[in-house]
Amino acid sequence: MFADYHVHTEFSSDSVYPMEQVLEDAIAMGMDEICFTEHVDYGVKKDWDSEGPVKYYGDKPYLNADYPAYAAKVYRLRPKYGAEINIKMGLEFGMQEHTIPQYEALAQNAPFDKNPLDFIILSVHQVEDKEFWTQEFQEGKSQKEYNEGYYEELLRVAKAYKGYSVLGHLDMILRYDKAGVYPFGKVKPLVSEILKTAIQDGKGLELNTSYHRYGLQDTTPSVEILKLYRSMGGEILTIGSDSHEPGHLGAYIHEGKQLLESLGFRYFCTYDEMVPIFHKL
Ligand SMILES: [Zn+2]
Ligand SMILES: [Zn+2]
Repeated sequence: MFADYHVHTEFSSDSVYPMEQVLEDAIAMGMDEICFTEHVDYGVKKDWDSEGPVKYYGDKPYLNADYPAYAAKVYRLRPKYGAEINIKMGLEFGMQEHTIPQYEALAQNAPFDKNPLDFIILSVHQVEDKEFWTQEFQEGKSQKEYNEGYYEELLRVAKAYKGYSVLGHLDMILRYDKAGVYPFGKVKPLVSEILKTAIQDGKGLELNTSYHRYGLQDTTPSVEILKLYRSMGGEILTIGSDSHEPGHLGAYIHEGKQLLESLGFRYFCTYDEMVPIFHKL
């Protein structure tokens, strides 16, 4: 089973990759299942249909996915490509503690009340409505403050919100840390608490294979975090490329499986309407 469980398309504000093209490319590389995980980032992005001024990054408006158009397209393309590839409908929630109610409403209302989501990635991309990738959150803080601030926010969200499937790119603050790698030992108690919460809630952890293109020394999350998860009894794992453009799709998924197997894991998961399905690595 070759599956990519973290894929952005034209429905995400930072991608222009047309969904049909993603599917054709995925089929060409022999992928069996794909899960689209379009961005939703309340707090910093408005919904696609909201009024008033809109920020732009490059040519694209900085908005959340157009949910009705997204769901309609997935449902339209499933019969067209379904003989060749399983198409799952997911979202990536860029959550903060203060935006939790907006995500709860989104997952329960149209179009997702009638077109159920298969999979939700819980990510933290911002704290205090400040982005990491622009350095806005890190600016004016010590390395300790922004690293711990990130994990503290993720812990608060994981304790309060139970509607997700897996924790996305758990140590992603490392991607944007200009001061280098903050020692894992200093955040290990926080990471342990986050993993414990996820395991108790029946949630999983994502292996995000984008570490190659970000030039990181370690995987995302790190091998140490993956080992910790296993030692705590964690078994639910998904593997995703975090694709935004053609070169990303499906990249290093096979390598990811080998890594997980070498760490003693036996299964990875796909999802169907939020229920994990286990596959041998
Ligand atoms: Zn993300
Ligand atoms: Zn993503």
